Amino acid sequence: MHDRNTVYIGGRWTGPATGARTPVENPATGQVIGHVPEAAAADVDAAVAAARAAFAGWSVTGRAERVAALTALRDGLVTRRQELAELITAEMGAPARVAAGLQVTLPVQVVEGYLRLLAEPRSEPERIDGSLILHEPVGVVGAITPWNYPVHQAVAKLAPALAAGCTVVLKPSELAPLSAYLLAEIVDAAGLPPGVFNLIPGLGPVAGEALAGHPEVDLVSFTGSTRGGRRVAAVAADTVKRVALELGGKSANLLLPDADLAVAVKVGVANCYLNTGQTCTALSRMLVHTSQYDEAVERAASYAAGLPVGDPTSPATRLGPLVSAAQRDRVRELVSAGLAAGARAATGGPDPDGLPEPGYYVAPTVLAGVTPDNPVAQEEVFGPVLSVLAYRDEDEAVEIANRSRYGLTGGVWSADPDRALAVARRLRTGQVDINGAGFNPLAPFGGYRQSGIGREHGRYGLAEYQEVKSVQLPTSEGGGR
Ligand code: NAD
Repeated sequence: MHDRNTVYIGGRWTGPATGARTPVENPATGQVIGHVPEAAAADVDAAVAAARAAFAGWSVTGRAERVAALTALRDGLVTRRQELAELITAEMGAPARVAAGLQVTLPVQVVEGYLRLLAEPRSEPERIDGSLILHEPVGVVGAITPWNYPVHQAVAKLAPALAAGCTVVLKPSELAPLSAYLLAEIVDAAGLPPGVFNLIPGLGPVAGEALAGHPEVDLVSFTGSTRGGRRVAAVAADTVKRVALELGGKSANLLLPDADLAVAVKVGVANCYLNTGQTCTALSRMLVHTSQYDEAVERAASYAAGLPVGDPTSPATRLGPLVSAAQRDRVRELVSAGLAAGARAATGGPDPDGLPEPGYYVAPTVLAGVTPDNPVAQEEVFGPVLSVLAYRDEDEAVEIANRSRYGLTGGVWSADPDRALAVARRLRTGQVDINGAGFNPLAPFGGYRQSGIGREHGRYGLAEYQEVKSVQLPTSEGGGR
């Protein structure tokens, strides 16, 4: 059992304010594998007070101290990567190859990205005529994170906060809080001053809202569902704090007719199903020219049907369980709604027959005949479900891609780099991957429209954790205006 009875506040593992506890389930077995405290508003108050007290010292540290902290964080993440990977698989079902791969390498890359920024030669502070422009840490950060890449999402907030000179209170997802405890142990061993990092597990509407609405929190950085982000922004509004939101998506993958169809379809399906479809950037709408539509559907279905589904601890597994019974049921319901709206299952579907038991599995599903307004083409499914849509020409493809309230990611496939880039420019999304090009941890990451507000990673990510101050200098003649 992975039972945890403490919260991490002010550099100490201490007892929470109440005895309330949240069970953590292994979604491959349905068994409870541990419990964590359910933080109350009093715990949030204590954690924020510790972060506020630590801010005075941490905000004025020099580069060397911040580099040392990030280096120790990076080294701890590397040293304990296997433990982290196993815990992530146990708490949220990521297949071992994803857990030991992306789930634990992404956070290392993100920290290294900030270390690279801190290693850049320091430039003179910006001047605008007689003003000096200073970038200062924003203050105490409330970080609220989801379960799908639990360590990565937390580090994506912690690393820039530390680099900027901010202090942090982390509230991880109640579905996958165990790996956050390992992260806290890594931070503890890194020797940061007490209170620079604090961990309070708890429920969104309780601990999450207490953090988002806390008057002593200067920035709330939230990654999660659009529904959750909307609520966080509303709760934060009363105290007029900064709000950064990384939310959901319904991203389109445009296969232009000159692309290598076989490669584009295979990579497209693999992208959509990454982490069992539980990835915010999943390219879950594949847009194919009418002349290639039947072939694309057939290729997608046959590739999807061959992917091994099952025990996430097995290295051969490509698709594990979904994170919870509720998530599995939601995915099945959305697939059923898609079928009811006229789609056809080229493989998979809502039927549980043939799936491993116990565990919260959904069959790898490819839906054909999906029209742009079908619920499966509009709602974020967050499971292994690919919708294939047909288009007649490039303008229509772009119009369908942009017909979404989300705007997180897009994909474009073409043999012609200029054409691919021209189409990429027309997509209303925060990032676009051409011909399957991969994630860049130094490039800004975030969403248009209801996919979010703000950017993470690299220097754009760092800027979210900084205030900008203009200092008007006296003129050489003496005095001001
Ligand atoms: P969620 O919104 O249910 O929960 C995310 C976090 O918010 C959890 O810690 C939860 O406890 C907390 N929360 C929930 N309600 C809250 C409230 N009222 N006030 C404060 N906090 C609250 O999302 P999830 O199911 O954990 O994660 C899946 C979602 O996250 C998907 O929609 C996915 O697309 C999105 N996501 C986005 C990104 C991105 O960078 N854009 C990355 C990963 C996941």
